[in-house]
Amino acid sequence: MNKPSCVIIGASAAGVATAVELRKRGYAGAVTLVDADPNIPYERPPLSKTLLGTGSRGLVPIQPAHTYRDLDIELRLGERATAVDPAALTVHLSGGEVLPAGRVVLATGLSPRRLQVAGADAENVLSLRDASDASRIAEGLASGGPLVLIGAGFIGLELAAVAREGGIDVTVVEAQAQPLNNAVGPDVACLLTQLHRRHGVKLLTSATVAEFAGSAGRVEEVRLTDGRRLPASTVVVGVGVEPRNELTVSARIEVDSYGIPVNEFGQTSRAWVYATGDVASQPHPELARRGRIEHWDAAQRHGTAVGATIAGAPARYREAPYAWSDQYGATLQIVGRPRPDDDLVLREGASPSEFLAFWIRDGYVGAVAGMEASRDVGVVKRLMAARVPVDRAELAGRDLDLRGLLKQHRNGVRATAGSKLAG
Ligand SMILES: Cc1cc2nc3c(=O)[nH]c(=O)nc-3n(C[C@H](O)[C@H](O)[C@H](O)COP(=O)(O)OP(=O)(O)OC[C@H]3O[C@@H](n4cnc5c(N)ncnc54)[C@H](O)[C@@H]3O)c2cc1C
Repeated sequence: MNKPSCVIIGASAAGVATAVELRKRGYAGAVTLVDADPNIPYERPPLSKTLLGTGSRGLVPIQPAHTYRDLDIELRLGERATAVDPAALTVHLSGGEVLPAGRVVLATGLSPRRLQVAGADAENVLSLRDASDASRIAEGLASGGPLVLIGAGFIGLELAAVAREGGIDVTVVEAQAQPLNNAVGPDVACLLTQLHRRHGVKLLTSATVAEFAGSAGRVEEVRLTDGRRLPASTVVVGVGVEPRNELTVSARIEVDSYGIPVNEFGQTSRAWVYATGDVASQPHPELARRGRIEHWDAAQRHGTAVGATIAGAPARYREAPYAWSDQYGATLQIVGRPRPDDDLVLREGASPSEFLAFWIRDGYVGAVAGMEASRDVGVVKRLMAARVPVDRAELAGRDLDLRGLLKQHRNGVRATAGSKLAG
């Protein structure tokens, strides 16, 4: 009988977590991690929080190099997987090699969506997903600005903060009336907008790009549909992402509008092929039906669950999604997903970079966001996990004692889900 083997395509947060968990759980077969990126697997979040410089200097490895050796995980870096053969149970690599694959894990992530306007293929119109993108952006900014960012998502705004801290002129062009509305709702989004404006970011909302104009293959000006013209030496486009699901064609696996649909254990429509991390369309309890959860913590936990499952100990990722973002030296943390019909309690601090926001749903905290409030966010996360009923007035009150609420719950003074709030 052939030795079992698992080929993981994509060696980032989800793929590396899968490989490490396989070994932790005693998986005895061959484990191979394939990635088109030539660098030792590295963390993406730092890419938008510091300007890397050129090359791979400053990359933060997900695991030290010896971990792969110690755990007998084979790294195939700088090689692209080109096909998954469902009949032969193999994975084809760009160099022509064919790997036996009793199990395949697709951890291929997302790629940035391109803007469909004239000039979008100019050499200084960039996006940010990997180390080579970060190097190109750093190179562009080394000669100064102006930097024009198209799209005000978290990654774009982190880049805006880093550039402003480097004294670079930054304009952000956002199609929505307010950035981040979908992620954190209008009130918290308003605080984040204020924070960027205070630091000198020119934030143009309800604005869209008509074309990129310039000469010799370089953009010199971003032209908006309302006629405004923005001088630019570097443009970074962050207008959404697409799942990297090309391998589903050869593998003959279903896709949906989010990515690669998986069951609660990460299995695709073909039981020996799994999908994990950003590319997976998951049936997570926090999502109305299913969808992608595009956060580092989710990718890592989902990958870990898939590794455990393949090793014979089925596991699910069901925790409330957690994300963070660093801007101007302050850390924003979000647990859960705010919904438009939640009841918001916002406790503001002395500046827009200090706040704590609770979204109350059916008498419980459904989601929380805090900036410079990591201890409080940590306590609320535990209140959420334990399903401790909360009272709006209490959360909004001046004498809020979150640790006290948790203590009451532990001591049985405060009821849990399904019972009434203790007096
Ligand atoms: C710049 C940036 C900053 C971020 N900051 C934060 C943050 O502050 N907080 C937070 O919670 N989340 C953050 N995220 C999100 C987080 O990093 C992602 O959720 C996480 O990296 C997803 O991991 P993944 O393994 O699913 O996919 P990815 O990290 O996208 O990795 C997929 C890998 O698959 C490889 N690949 C794809 N196709 C193939 C193929 N055919 N053959 C070989 N290899 C292939 C790619 O080269 C890539 O290395 C950030 C993301 C980026 C890009």
